[in-house]
Amino acid sequence: MIPSLEELHKIGASQQPTYPDQAAVDAAVARLRTLPPLVFAGECDELKDKIAAASRGEAFILQGGDCAETFVDATADNTRNKLRVLLQMAVVLTYAASVPVVKIGRLAGQYAKPRSSDTETRDGVTLPAYRGDAVNGYDFTPESRIPDPQRLLEVYHSSASTLNLVRAFTTGGYADLRQVHAWNSEFVRSSPVGARYEAMGKEIDRALTFMKAIGADPDEFHRVDFYSSHEALLMEYEHALTRIDSRTDEPYNVSGHFVWIGERTRQLDGAHVEYFRHIRNPIGCKLGPTATADDALALARKLNPDNEAGRLTFITRFGAGKIRDGLPSLVEKVTAEGANVAWICDPMHGNTFEASNGYKTRRFEDVLDEVQGFFDVHRALGTVPAGILVENTGDDVTEIIGGGEELDEHSLVHRYESVVDPRLNRVQSLEMAYLVAEMLRKS
Ligand code: PEP
Ligand code: MN
Repeated sequence: MIPSLEELHKIGASQQPTYPDQAAVDAAVARLRTLPPLVFAGECDELKDKIAAASRGEAFILQGGDCAETFVDATADNTRNKLRVLLQMAVVLTYAASVPVVKIGRLAGQYAKPRSSDTETRDGVTLPAYRGDAVNGYDFTPESRIPDPQRLLEVYHSSASTLNLVRAFTTGGYADLRQVHAWNSEFVRSSPVGARYEAMGKEIDRALTFMKAIGADPDEFHRVDFYSSHEALLMEYEHALTRIDSRTDEPYNVSGHFVWIGERTRQLDGAHVEYFRHIRNPIGCKLGPTATADDALALARKLNPDNEAGRLTFITRFGAGKIRDGLPSLVEKVTAEGANVAWICDPMHGNTFEASNGYKTRRFEDVLDEVQGFFDVHRALGTVPAGILVENTGDDVTEIIGGGEELDEHSLVHRYESVVDPRLNRVQSLEMAYLVAEMLRKS
């Protein structure tokens, strides 16, 4: 039985907002409980099987999207651009490494953020920190920073419209493999990686034409399976969207296919682990440099007591400088004890720093180096690197330095649009896909 919201709060959930009006919270939760599911339990099971395949090395997981979605940016153009860059990355990985790619967006629910500090100070003024559009406003005013439970309903409606568009794009023709050039339009002439992609597109076209000529035109050429994911941080929202599946009588979180526990909320005896233990979705748990091998094993035992393949993904985020020393003991212990997990690499969150002009950024080279370290560790241990999680966007932002365009710290002033963490832009995302495909081919 899934614990009640009251029981979870009694255990103590970290990183929750302090709402000024409990009656308003109760009303929002009651309303959320009446709203239809955003995803279906059967789709979650299907994803679990695909993650299981990735954990055996038979597929590769590509999870990507914004650090934090915002309500104003939940537009058709943004969603299409985000989807397009993920589809392009997936095609590169599939074609260059000859491996099926499991596509998961950090979208349609990624609206709540854990923060290192409860407050933010600017020019001597201290206000509550921005905790994502799910909680409060980004504007630096006392009114905007007050947590408002009505926002939970807006998260639901925004996620529903994003997911509706994603479903239309992925099954209604946009994701057809014959669109492989269209995804790249206006991009080809402006960058070498665009040109490289264009050449690959031509080869794919030839292969498709050949297949068609011999009478093979499977459904897979015309549509893709695409899944949604977010950090399930806010107890009110996640609990209200937990429903009993009529087929199995088991609880599923129906706000996203895949949900994960963040680095700051993975306490073994905390409310998040307690909640996650009960839902049947495929789930993730972040593991940073402070996690020990015993922590990892205890989490695996608690979150996946039946040792089901595909159920639990460990998303490691050590930082380029720490992964080669830090990761092996965790993988060794978990593997030696026979615990079934998929290992994926988040090369973003251990590599954030503040540029000299105050912008929060990451180096493209560090991001790549962490992925290389991740592959090296798994190759040395004979275990499987099952995927990557990136923070990226389909737009030409300037938030991460380095890469083929050689963005430097001064470029950050031009198009820095993220409200929380810096993202790979479109060119950097595609460059990364080629470099990771090469690592995959060699592993
Ligand atoms: C994130 O994925 O945006 C995030 C906050 O990561 P972590 O929990 O690993 O710090
Ligand atoms: Mn982030």
